[in-house]
Amino acid sequence: MIRSSRVPPASRQLFTVPCHLSTRLLFHLCASAFIGGFLLCSSASAAIRYTVSLAQPDQHLFRVTMVVPDVRDSLTVSLPAWNALYQIRDFSQRVLDVRAADQNGRALPVSKLDKQTWRVSSTGTVTLYYSIYWDEPGPFASQLNPTHAFLNLAMVLFYVPDRRSEDVSVLFLDYPSTWRIAVALKPATGAASVTSPFIAPSYDALVDAPVEIGPFEEFRLQGITPPVRVVIHGENYNRSQLEDSLRRIVIYQTGMMGGAPYDEFLFIYHYGPSSIVGGGGMEHANSTAISASTLPGAINVGAHEFFHLWNVKRLRPAALEPVDYSREQYTRLLWFAEGVTSTYGSYTLVRTGLWTPRQFYDDLANEITTLESRPARAWQSVEQSSLDAWLEKYPLYRRTDLSISYYNKGQLVGVLLDILLRDQTDNRASLDDVLRYLNDNFARRGLPYRDSDLLAASRAVFSRFAVRPPALLNSRPTASGASPLGVSITEPSCRFLARNSGSVVDSCATRWNPEVQISFGEDGLRSPPSCISSEIDVAPWLSVTVDTISQPDRVTSPVEPPNTLDEFFARYVSGTEPLDYDFFLSKAGLALKSRPRKQPNSASPLLFYEIEELPNPTDRQRRIRDALLRGTTDPAR
Ligand SMILES: [Zn+2]
Repeated sequence: MIRSSRVPPASRQLFTVPCHLSTRLLFHLCASAFIGGFLLCSSASAAIRYTVSLAQPDQHLFRVTMVVPDVRDSLTVSLPAWNALYQIRDFSQRVLDVRAADQNGRALPVSKLDKQTWRVSSTGTVTLYYSIYWDEPGPFASQLNPTHAFLNLAMVLFYVPDRRSEDVSVLFLDYPSTWRIAVALKPATGAASVTSPFIAPSYDALVDAPVEIGPFEEFRLQGITPPVRVVIHGENYNRSQLEDSLRRIVIYQTGMMGGAPYDEFLFIYHYGPSSIVGGGGMEHANSTAISASTLPGAINVGAHEFFHLWNVKRLRPAALEPVDYSREQYTRLLWFAEGVTSTYGSYTLVRTGLWTPRQFYDDLANEITTLESRPARAWQSVEQSSLDAWLEKYPLYRRTDLSISYYNKGQLVGVLLDILLRDQTDNRASLDDVLRYLNDNFARRGLPYRDSDLLAASRAVFSRFAVRPPALLNSRPTASGASPLGVSITEPSCRFLARNSGSVVDSCATRWNPEVQISFGEDGLRSPPSCISSEIDVAPWLSVTVDTISQPDRVTSPVEPPNTLDEFFARYVSGTEPLDYDFFLSKAGLALKSRPRKQPNSASPLLFYEIEELPNPTDRQRRIRDALLRGTTDPAR
């Protein structure tokens, strides 16, 4: 998901249903069928059957009928407490007038057990009737009004807690003849029609398919197999640009991940002012719902949500399975599920030419600014932030001193991990290989992954391609001489960022006062700087230019970046060490610089960051930088 537009399920097909028949006629057919035990108008063989009437759009009430066969003694039903967002939202607050009848149509008493659970004592087939109020725009809610209906079905449909794995069907009724239905579910009759319910192999699969019912425009992305369809409700969008952008996104991501994991895919767009359509996007097994008010927003969110088809929908954190609709479900992995999905959202845009490199750098710099402006980064790890996702509904928790965002830091960790992998393998491997490894070894086998599997996957990719363990100090020119020479260094990017100081510096000396041990010369003489290459790899992460001899004593580099993947994960994922953008970015031939953001009446100016390409990168830096932007590696090197 993505919450603002700024930025292994069973195979199913999706259909849109033109409304050929009079829905009023159909309503009467079905309504009369309800009286005698329901669904004479359906040929579905599903165990649990729902109908949803849209007859009261101006009252924003979905009227639901739920038929449950084979009840023994009593039937317990619940409505999820959460869905779409990792927030307890108690959808049951919207429910009114729950009633029940037995298979002979006789009314049954309904008792309420807790805020979201009801019980009916009976045997045989039980039919429940209730209404639920929804009039919220956006992909994380549901809405019924005179312009359209949008349903996240977990927010509307009761479930039977111990019968979630049974076949289910849902039929929508009583909508205007000019409206159509778009949903990534199969129609029961094999062909879409207004009289055919949609079916799913389980409640979970059913509610992972949002439904748009309204007067939308629809088109298919040309030349894409398996088919990808786009449904847009709204106006004033640039269809050809959106179509071209989505084609590029789909082609790039399915190519990178080795094929599409669906039989058919559906984009549902709500396009218009955010006050009307909301904002953000929500991923689903074979579809996504996105609300956007601008074309760049529609495209950016589309790139993020489409990548979720792998990362989170099929490459699934073990802690999120099976879904528990009744209470919070905790995982430490949202930094990967959401943050690294954002990494690939931005990678997709720059690798398909939808962004320029400049836009990619600006987006990355903006993420750095966001993280560095949150004091909570000093004590909340990105794993802790994932666990605390359930607190995000509280405005206080979102304060900069109380939390960081797993989207934000997760996106940065993804980019830095990519650079680390590329650096340590001489650009033979990248984060792409880690995603493909996870896809092959977990998603395609239907296995969820645990926290430790991410590090293991990174290690596996690294060990396949690593040339050598990275050295802490790789002094050049190398010689057997023992005399240490201290030099002060000017590293291309180091003049810009004062780590954690909140102030701008423009000289390397004030930042690090770096002192590096370099040995050369058989005779141990302290050679003048002119004998040294003007650019030295002091360490794998640090390329420096030699300035003047200043400290002849033996010293070590004050910079200690992670040399191993284990260290990277321990420090930046489960730990709270500041991310050292400088040496990561310098390995990719990029420089990070900070500029004060003028704030009136503020004693200490805030910083915002900018990323620039080094004008004279080494060949290695250029190789890594170009490959990261293009999504390639040099496996044969
Ligand atoms: Zn997301």
